[in-house]
Amino acid sequence: MDPAMDTRPATFPTGGASSSSLIFLGTGCSGALPDARCLIQPSTPPCAVCSKALSLPPDRNPNYRCNTSLLIDYCRDDGTQNYILVDVGKNFREQVLRWFVHHKVPSIDSIILTHEHADAVLGLDDVWVVQPSSHRNDIEQVPIFLTQFTMDSVAARFPYLVKKKLGEGDDFARATQLDWRIIEGDIDKPFVSSGLEFVPLPVMHGEDYVCLGFLFGSRARVAYLSDVSRILPRTEHAISKSGAGQLDLLIIETNRLHGVGDARSCHLTLSQSLDAVKRICPKKALLIGMNHEFEHHRENQMLAQWSLREGIPVQLAHDGLRIFIDL
Ligand SMILES: [Zn+2]
Ligand SMILES: [Zn+2]
Repeated sequence: MDPAMDTRPATFPTGGASSSSLIFLGTGCSGALPDARCLIQPSTPPCAVCSKALSLPPDRNPNYRCNTSLLIDYCRDDGTQNYILVDVGKNFREQVLRWFVHHKVPSIDSIILTHEHADAVLGLDDVWVVQPSSHRNDIEQVPIFLTQFTMDSVAARFPYLVKKKLGEGDDFARATQLDWRIIEGDIDKPFVSSGLEFVPLPVMHGEDYVCLGFLFGSRARVAYLSDVSRILPRTEHAISKSGAGQLDLLIIETNRLHGVGDARSCHLTLSQSLDAVKRICPKKALLIGMNHEFEHHRENQMLAQWSLREGIPVQLAHDGLRIFIDL
């Protein structure tokens, strides 16, 4: 088996009969991979990563990366299985066709949005296909958690999704139907989605824009930071070994392979992400949000060396990766 596609349970604490897991629906940047420009205006020599991204079917190709999105398969104490979707980007339909089918996910139970950029919300129109339906032509509303700022932006772009619930038999009932829940982007204001508590983790995503990450899990603690250029001190304290306690898993963005980033950047570069991993010191870290400078196998070999040196296992995640973890 290709080690990069090994989706056997990772070495995370698991307890009892719990079978919670995290499914990475997308691990790429806003433009997704392959980068279309590398294919329609190829350089000489052509971009190796985008060429590779087309050389195998996407379900066996870790260099094929859709917009970042995470599906939390949460197994409650009573054994009920809930699916919590974090972000619904431009590639959502493609992610459903590929990974909902592969991992046998029948529907979702709630949605959480990190921010209102296109790669986090533009798939909302397609959500209706994964909504539970109780009977013909009636879709149950799915709770969606977002800040007021994100709500205002989404409402302007999808006015038809924020009007009141359509009635049974309505011609347009086959549209996404959401139950909008406003959250505060504040560490002290946790909220519960499908039975799982989430702590908002505000981070800078560019120096004039705040995006939310989330801390979740009571048995294993997981932090998810998908879009970040600078981690605010209070957020860093909440997820650091030297602060509120060591994470079992840190999922953090790394957008560019080279460079050290600058004040205008909206994303972390690899060296900045690895510096953050060292400061936060989780038991394990997975990187997401990579652009086409990252070749999956090459960079993971380099990261294996880094992990050995620093004592913190870090790897690039890939689309379709599923890890089992006791939340
Ligand atoms: Zn490329
Ligand atoms: Zn963004």
